[in-house]
Amino acid sequence: MRIEDPKVVAALPELNVELRRAASLAELTSLAIGGTTDLLRIQKQESILGLLSLLDSHGVGHRFLGGGSNLLVGDGELPWVVVQLASPDPDIVLEGNFADVDAAADLGRTVTYCAKHDLGGMEGLIGVPGTVGGALRMNAGAYGMQIGSYVREVKYRHTSFAPDDMMLAVKLELPSKPYKEILQGIRICNEKRRSSQPLGQKSAGCIFKNPPGASAGRMIDELGLKGLNVGDARVSDRHANFFVNAGKASAQDMLALIADVRGRVRSAFSVELEHEVVIWNA
Ligand SMILES: Cc1cc2nc3c(=O)[nH]c(=O)nc-3n(C[C@H](O)[C@H](O)[C@H](O)COP(=O)(O)OP(=O)(O)OC[C@H]3O[C@@H](n4cnc5c(N)ncnc54)[C@H](O)[C@@H]3O)c2cc1C
Repeated sequence: MRIEDPKVVAALPELNVELRRAASLAELTSLAIGGTTDLLRIQKQESILGLLSLLDSHGVGHRFLGGGSNLLVGDGELPWVVVQLASPDPDIVLEGNFADVDAAADLGRTVTYCAKHDLGGMEGLIGVPGTVGGALRMNAGAYGMQIGSYVREVKYRHTSFAPDDMMLAVKLELPSKPYKEILQGIRICNEKRRSSQPLGQKSAGCIFKNPPGASAGRMIDELGLKGLNVGDARVSDRHANFFVNAGKASAQDMLALIADVRGRVRSAFSVELEHEVVIWNA
């Protein structure tokens, strides 16, 4: 979508919002799939309400983008604009066992920054790409931990016209642990990831949620579907719940592969797999 209305375009600099024309979502997502739209980068959090009400009053639909690591975005010209928070400096402030973190902060950097200050608990999240806001929205977790366990307060911007609230910042409470011990935990988690995930390839992490008491990846693997493909969209040979873009996969290819695998799992196990990946296809 292009923002055509000159009144909207003129109001953006006053709101400290940077307009990037025809941004490619393929370049902004880890799956490297997605069409183009105007991208609005918010430099000051105070501008969010003004921006969202401006977009709403001019009929411009929007989606919030974090780090783009859990998204499958549709092809071609997209029918909404994308709103993204720019990260302030500093984006993490520590006080005792509390960390006040901006939603736009990089998750991995947050984990290591806290670790260096002897604050642990989030070792499992090392290697999860994206922002702290995206991690909160998805309740990112791995190896028996979830970020939600450490959240004490979330600062939102709520408006009646936005489809979702935007998260601006979070207060985490983290257990004290010596840096060396945290580092050891980080190394173990890194090693587990390296040995089980297709890290060098373009993916969005797990495509499906694990059904209660079961593993989506194991079911897909048991059906012999590793390597199954539609065009360049492929079930990873390494981890059956990671679907990779092995070249120039389109959203259509990836959606067809997801539907195919879901159908086969339904037929074989009578289980309806739910998407973990967030699909922006309309
Ligand atoms: C190699 C790889 C490994 C991964 N491993 C894991 C793993 O172990 N565990 C795990 O849980 N996930 C994993 N993921 C998935 C992904 O990294 C996480 O879900 C991550 O937390 C998403 O953050 P993001 O900033 O990239 O969000 P995005 O992909 O940008 O957005 C995801 C959703 O959050 C919303 N959102 C983002 N920011 C905000 C905000 N500030 N306010 C409101 N809504 C917002 C978006 O609108 C969207 O609906 C992996 C992904 C990859 C590519």
